[in-house]
Amino acid sequence: MKELLVISGKGGTGKTSLVGSLAALADNKVLVDCDVDAADLHLLLAPRPRSTNEFRSGVKARVVADQCSGCGVCVDLCQFAAISFDLIARINDLGCEGCGVCAHFCPEQAIVLEENHCGSWFLSDTDYGPLVHAQLFAGEENSGKLVSFIKRQARELAEQSGIDLIIIDGAPGIGCPVIASLSNVDTALVVTEPTLSGLHDLERVLDLAGHFKVQALVCVNKWDLHPEMTASIEAACAARGVEALGRIPFDPAVVACQIQGVPVVSDEQSPAAEAIRQIWHSVRVRM
Ligand code: SF4
Ligand code: SF4
Repeated sequence: MKELLVISGKGGTGKTSLVGSLAALADNKVLVDCDVDAADLHLLLAPRPRSTNEFRSGVKARVVADQCSGCGVCVDLCQFAAISFDLIARINDLGCEGCGVCAHFCPEQAIVLEENHCGSWFLSDTDYGPLVHAQLFAGEENSGKLVSFIKRQARELAEQSGIDLIIIDGAPGIGCPVIASLSNVDTALVVTEPTLSGLHDLERVLDLAGHFKVQALVCVNKWDLHPEMTASIEAACAARGVEALGRIPFDPAVVACQIQGVPVVSDEQSPAAEAIRQIWHSVRVRM
């Protein structure tokens, strides 16, 4: 089984639009949206949920009100200022890190640690194949754990269905969800844009892919908006021994297709669509 991860060092490079087109071009695959903090692949692929599931991770403290004597010990012990006091202790869910100190030292055993429901994950059908996606609730942590979890679900689904390709929409940046996305992938297709920040963030994400020994390929979106910067990006890739295998031109058809909710490759006349078809062909050859 092969896993292709599409990532970008920064947001707004057109990564998810590209994944939408790859979803339409690739045969027989499972799709995964690993951008669990700000998932938006579903906006493009209009998924029809097969199942909706709770994601639980870590613990939060809860006060058992009728056991609390109001001694105030826990308020002073909490290093995260998550406990206030109003006759009894009250815990702020968003502030609680689940360290367990309050529960350990409460003289009345009035604090319990409960599993934290911090998001949802979904198995859905789309016009282009099954999609595993997820949404972390606001302010919740463990995005890397959720990414690892949904990738596992996607692998199991692929194995059960005899599917040998997984296409993953990764999170932007180089944080925990990106690191979790990179594990076990064969190839990372990095989408960048011809700006100074695009080059800077590309370098960071290539460092990360190199660290995890994942083959990286690069494409420059809207390359013709700044041809000199595109050349600089491709030179930086060459200096690292990373292949820059494609350029996608600026094309109003991309926005028009997004408004219609269809991948740009559905537009036969679009120059961007033609560039994406060529990129997909090159990626397949290299995988
Ligand atoms: S330490 Fe226990 S008994 Fe004391 S205020 Fe906190 S929860 Fe209540
Ligand atoms: S579990 Fe830790 S972070 Fe949460 S309220 Fe208790 S002491 Fe504070």
